[in-house]
Amino acid sequence: MKRRSMIKSMGAVSLGMVTPSLSKAEKLVEPYKTKKQNISTDILVVGGGTAGTIAAIQAGRTGAKTVLIESGSQLGGCTTTGGVSFPGIFHAWGEQIISGIGWELVLDAVELNGDQLPDFSKIPKSHWKHQVAVNPAIYVMLAEEKCLEAGVDIRYYETPTSVKFEHGKWLVESTGKGVKTIISAKQLIDCTGNALIASMAGYNLLREKETQPGSLVYSMGGYDFDKLDLSKIPKRYHKALDQNILTSQIRKTGENTFIPYGYVYVYGADSTTSETHTVANQKGRQNLLQLIRELREFPGCENIRITSMKTETAVRETFRIDGLYKITKEDYVSGRLHEDALSYSFYPVDLHRDGKSIYQEFLKLNTVASIPMRALIPKNSENFLVAGRCLSSDRLANSALRVQASCMGMGQAAAVTASLSIEEGVTPAKISPGLVKKRLKEFGAIVPS
Ligand SMILES: Cc1cc2nc3c(=O)[nH]c(=O)nc-3n(C[C@H](O)[C@H](O)[C@H](O)COP(=O)(O)OP(=O)(O)OC[C@H]3O[C@@H](n4cnc5c(N)ncnc54)[C@H](O)[C@@H]3O)c2cc1C
Repeated sequence: MKRRSMIKSMGAVSLGMVTPSLSKAEKLVEPYKTKKQNISTDILVVGGGTAGTIAAIQAGRTGAKTVLIESGSQLGGCTTTGGVSFPGIFHAWGEQIISGIGWELVLDAVELNGDQLPDFSKIPKSHWKHQVAVNPAIYVMLAEEKCLEAGVDIRYYETPTSVKFEHGKWLVESTGKGVKTIISAKQLIDCTGNALIASMAGYNLLREKETQPGSLVYSMGGYDFDKLDLSKIPKRYHKALDQNILTSQIRKTGENTFIPYGYVYVYGADSTTSETHTVANQKGRQNLLQLIRELREFPGCENIRITSMKTETAVRETFRIDGLYKITKEDYVSGRLHEDALSYSFYPVDLHRDGKSIYQEFLKLNTVASIPMRALIPKNSENFLVAGRCLSSDRLANSALRVQASCMGMGQAAAVTASLSIEEGVTPAKISPGLVKKRLKEFGAIVPS
């Protein structure tokens, strides 16, 4: 056989070996039937974001059977998927005020990534300098590992489509890709950030007409900020070019440089439903496209490129529950110590208004706010708690309470309350706060006193 025809026939043989069944349009598998199942659990956490991750780990560590439903593909919510990868604030006035599982996760992430903690003994002029930068990829993996170690059944890509309270238990229908699961749970914790599950359960929500804008987080490269002739670039672009206040100041002080943190505002951003979140994501991407196109026109910016962009627009404000107690701004700034306080919170009142201004009110020296158990329980509810930014609070108090360390503290507190409710056979509102505080301390949390 001539060399060329031999090669040809070898090709035919090897092709013949791998392709015959594919050439015949055979039915390879049966059509997929949606997998339907019923499962029961002690504690069901919906939303595996900043608060929900901590709630699920804590619930699992109490020994409770725990299911965590997360509509996305990874844990961490705003901390990771949203790009706000610098949780704050765990320390106030030279002392640690929030610890527990959130702090454990942050410390582990810092250590594994070889990062350094800020010096918490120095009281900084700018509060955000005590936020702790974490590598979001490391955080995602550690959070998942800790959930799995605690025995949490994580269900990604799922979301509740109906929520009913029947015969003292929650029946939640959860739908995902090719699966439909009815979950029966003794206690339900809504950590969606939007109180969607509380609303589906029939509880009242709070929300003003105006909400803070969301942000799509990105980073850019391909230019040297210090060499730009800013006189030739309209002022409104300077901040974006400087990659926002946070990064520029971190860059200038030579601290943690890995946080890419430029953002475009997204007005009206709302992550409550798939439809509203889709709009928020589209608007964020359109705004960023427009920005990049405009920036490229300026001298020194011709080679600008996007080096990273988060997959979701991060949302600051949507709905809060109408709880047994509504934390007010006065409570917050005066550092009111509630009798049933389960955790602390420390941040300025921080309301992004129209994209041009942020309303801020700072806490006075040695003042720290506290979070009562009642703010995590919707009015007229049974066996239901929330944790995270959708806690019961007025708008200004919420603009401070929403920060990550506070959400983590709430997550841990809600899970301990839920597990004690199961042990005691009563609804969370009837549990003695003293008992919850004692158990929280045993799990390493700092409890207000
Ligand atoms: C742009 C921006 C900047 C910020 N800056 C700071 C800062 O400097 N410092 C600071 O500490 N905090 C900051 N925050 C605030 C903080 O990041 C958030 O308020 C906090 O992370 C909210 O936590 P959460 O657990 O309530 O919600 P999220 O972290 O949003 O978690 C909610 C989770 O629930 C999931 N979910 C939602 N709905 C469903 C559903 N129906 N079914 C299943 N899963 C669902 C989501 O996918 C998500 O994972 C900022 C926030 C934003 C948006």
